[in-house]
Amino acid sequence: MKILIVEDEPKTGNYLRQGLSEAGFVVNLVRDGRDGLHEALTVDHDLAILDVMLPGIDGWSVLRSIRAAGKEIPVLFLTARDQVDDRVRGLELGADDYLVKPFAFAELLARVRTLLRRGGKAREAEALRAADLEIDLLRRRVTRAGQRIDLTAREFALLELLLRRRGEVLPRSLIASQVWDMNFESDTNVIEVAVRRLRAKVDDDFSPKLIRTVRGMGYVLDDAAEDGACD
Ligand code: CA
Repeated sequence: MKILIVEDEPKTGNYLRQGLSEAGFVVNLVRDGRDGLHEALTVDHDLAILDVMLPGIDGWSVLRSIRAAGKEIPVLFLTARDQVDDRVRGLELGADDYLVKPFAFAELLARVRTLLRRGGKAREAEALRAADLEIDLLRRRVTRAGQRIDLTAREFALLELLLRRRGEVLPRSLIASQVWDMNFESDTNVIEVAVRRLRAKVDDDFSPKLIRTVRGMGYVLDDAAEDGACD
């Protein structure tokens, strides 16, 4: 297993390299955003650990370019900033996880192992389908009736969850914990808005309608109901 680390701070970089090497990983450590991007695009790694504040280009831009190039490598962000905005921004750009400095090495190692396991699992199934809707998990592309649909990272995660558990009514609390990784009990409006936007993209111009609201319960993606009349 090969891990790319992009970290300009020598102490943190060396600490990570040593710890991960001792844990049995092959480590490629670079100290600059441009070098990091070059390594990510030209060498195969199983995971990347990106610092946010970097010389050259910052961690956000490195990640954006990695994803724009179609690389599905799991990415763990490191940052000194403990800001919800940063966390959300990183996840929206396609980061897989986020760790705030200072962190315990054991915590980082646990996150790395989880991401590697999850990455391996994602590669088993390549696509999910319902009626003429298809999501390509490797390229993170969505099509309906052969038409490409652009989704944000969050919308994609939401659709993926609904498709994976298709036919099942998913309560808002479950959607919040799976898609936002947070507890949204106090503001389910966030989920309603996200579902409405997702429907506008994948259902409004198409038939049958796949995503349904089950009043007082949650949401379900189902293509069984359209055999009969559709509302
Ligand atoms: Ca830094």
